[in-house]
Amino acid sequence: MTASDPEMAAFSSTLCMYGQGVVKGYAIGRAVVMSAAALEVAHYRVAFEDIAAESERLISAMTAARDDLLQMAASLPADAPRELAALLNVHSMLLDDPMLIQQVCSVIAERQYNAEWALATQGQLLAEQFSMMEDDYLRERGADVRQVIERVLRVLSGTTNWLPNLDAVDTEDSLIVVARDISPPDMMRLRGGKFGAFLTDLGGPTSHTAIVARSMNVPAVVGMGHVRHLVRDADQLIVDGFNGVVLINPSEQILREYRLRQMAYQDERAELAMLRDAPAMTLDGILIRLEANIELPEEAVAALAAGADGIGLFRSEFLFMGRSTLPTEDEQYEAYSFVVRTMAGRPVTIRTLDLGADKTLDGEVTVAANPALGLRAIRYCLANPDIFHTQLRALLRASLHGEIRILIPMISQMHEIDAVRQAIDRACADLESSGIPYARNILLGAMVEIPAMAIAIEPFAEQLDFLSIGTNDLIQYVLAIDRGDKDVSDMYDPMHPAVLRLIAHTINAGERVGKPVSVCGEMAGDARVTRMLLGLGLTGFSMHPQQLLDVKKEIRQAHSNALRVKVASALNRAERIDLVSLSA
Ligand code: PEP
Ligand code: MG
Repeated sequence: MTASDPEMAAFSSTLCMYGQGVVKGYAIGRAVVMSAAALEVAHYRVAFEDIAAESERLISAMTAARDDLLQMAASLPADAPRELAALLNVHSMLLDDPMLIQQVCSVIAERQYNAEWALATQGQLLAEQFSMMEDDYLRERGADVRQVIERVLRVLSGTTNWLPNLDAVDTEDSLIVVARDISPPDMMRLRGGKFGAFLTDLGGPTSHTAIVARSMNVPAVVGMGHVRHLVRDADQLIVDGFNGVVLINPSEQILREYRLRQMAYQDERAELAMLRDAPAMTLDGILIRLEANIELPEEAVAALAAGADGIGLFRSEFLFMGRSTLPTEDEQYEAYSFVVRTMAGRPVTIRTLDLGADKTLDGEVTVAANPALGLRAIRYCLANPDIFHTQLRALLRASLHGEIRILIPMISQMHEIDAVRQAIDRACADLESSGIPYARNILLGAMVEIPAMAIAIEPFAEQLDFLSIGTNDLIQYVLAIDRGDKDVSDMYDPMHPAVLRLIAHTINAGERVGKPVSVCGEMAGDARVTRMLLGLGLTGFSMHPQQLLDVKKEIRQAHSNALRVKVASALNRAERIDLVSLSA
């Protein structure tokens, strides 16, 4: 049995279920089960003469649901995840879709189904069509259709009682929301309450439940299959968001064990929290920059709370994904400005669009023979100058609010840097001639993630203001191991001497020409390799905000110069570095 397969096993009297843990942490509490209107619709046939009235009933319910969504989008609280407004608009657009309305009305007319039955039938069909799509993102959009239909069903049935039944539980207990799925508007409403965890039958790591739970820092397990059927209101639950495990009505012994784990985890977090304002300085006085990686603008709040020195990587492509239109210059400007303002004077490194390979625009199908080696990242931007121009204008405008650094992904040739500089000059000239204010002298850096650049790094380092090593891709391209292919994942080896030599080579070149070098790939946030990276001479790390304090703890216990001697001698012999020997 694996944690990733939604399956179930009973041991002793405790029922155990698995799903996908999308937000780490433990929760112990009582279940509150959200009703799913789609599962409980009334089925009856309408008389022939009532067909027109039934269609009318459907259309006015769809209109009411749509108006409600639009109103909600217009009055979102300031701290709501920024993508929610867009999602609410997408949901309202689905309700405006004449095809959907017409198809459901045909079911009412032809089969004489009541409006609820017709809508649930048509919705099921549509959701199934989405679920068969190959693209992960499109498959998950089936959830949008289901959620929109759920909303109309609630209007049709006159149920405003969408919230879980809180009467059944003692509110002293932590409340764990159990649902088939949670739509963005419902998630927003739940956001106001104090919930211990979220569990859903549907959804994946990029589902809305996952995104909002992450922004609330509340443990969540999604894709559980049948949790809503198996759990009843007030059941006692243990949620393990690390492993995607949920225990239903656990025995006293299991409860005791998890209470201990929960306490140990809380103690660990509390102890780490005390390091928030402590300098990330090694025992021999080397000050290290610790920055945060973010994918959505509102994650900057968590970055600041974790004590990040700045944003080391904002993956701007996430603003472009999960929507049917490109974000406008103003939308991008708002998003970048929000991050800069939130970071209150700390530098914000925004990576220009890194689309291609596994990250594609909504509905865009990759036809490249090998997308990881194709028209990706800066290659894509230079081939689509209008998209790049809009992004550069937005970045230049937003940098009036604080220090923005532009980071270019997947550079392999010097002429790409020239082309980027020309594109920036064009964006400046354009803003200038329209009298739109922007900041000049923006710093320009590049990701070091293609081996060719790392090998021939010196002239690149001279041309650029800073370098950021993308170990995720660097490892993939050095070892010829697809980073997303589970069949070869055991050969994806960050500790391979060839990878470490390239990292060391880049850091040394940065030192020689006086340009800062950081690592923003996953290695930077893995506290097990912090000492090794210090030993390579690294002084800048950028990672997910949740990892920041673990890494800081390691740094504060390390002696950088002693590590440099040990690591250099192993690298010279092209030997594997023994991590255990570095903590001695
Ligand atoms: C990397 O390649 O290491 C990186 C940080 O970028 P991404 O994971 O977005 O490709
Ligand atoms: Mg990369």
